[in-house]
Amino acid sequence: MNMETNEHIKDDVTVTEVAENAPATTAVPLRKAVFLDRDGVINIDHGYLHQPEQFDFIDGVFEACRHLQNLGYLLIVVTNQSGIARGYYTEHQFALLTSWMKQQFAAQGVKIDGVYYCPHHLEKGDNPYNIDCDCRKPRPGMFNQAIREYGIDPAQSMMLGDKAADMQAAAAAGVTRKVLVLSGQALSDEDKQQADEVWPSIHTALTAVEN
Ligand SMILES: [Mg+2]
Ligand SMILES: [Zn+2]
Repeated sequence: MNMETNEHIKDDVTVTEVAENAPATTAVPLRKAVFLDRDGVINIDHGYLHQPEQFDFIDGVFEACRHLQNLGYLLIVVTNQSGIARGYYTEHQFALLTSWMKQQFAAQGVKIDGVYYCPHHLEKGDNPYNIDCDCRKPRPGMFNQAIREYGIDPAQSMMLGDKAADMQAAAAAGVTRKVLVLSGQALSDEDKQQADEVWPSIHTALTAVEN
């Protein structure tokens, strides 16, 4: 699901951003993007957090994202939010937190171009969320939707995640540079083998991404 087209947040101030970023025709050159997992990459993963008071930004995330934006990358968040399926919080609460998060980035000169989320979980969810969806990572549905909606070339794009599922979803969508950050989940060697690079945190983008 795309935040910008979600019924619940039609009044979101960023509604017009989709139109600005969407390619007018197929002749428009494809863009490059950084796909960002949220929990463990942007913020400390406290588990199913859904309020600004619980949202602690990881050190250096604003500088890193500003750097990537300045290099011409779209910033696209792709986040599994099974806390919605589990009944821990609602899509509306998620939308409010997302608006707040985007405002914090904007105050630091960073525009988050898009936010995609999966509210589903096949076993833990209640109707209508207990479906075998295409969007929950490791499946690539959120990536593929963003690629269509923003005219993104996955071969020029990156994924920053903290789980093997992030790497698998990105790989399935054709994203070529897959980075695991150590600021989130504990990672096995097997997990790390699914990434092209392993960074201490997103802040490493300042030195590791040059174009
Ligand atoms: Mg994560
Ligand atoms: Zn889903």
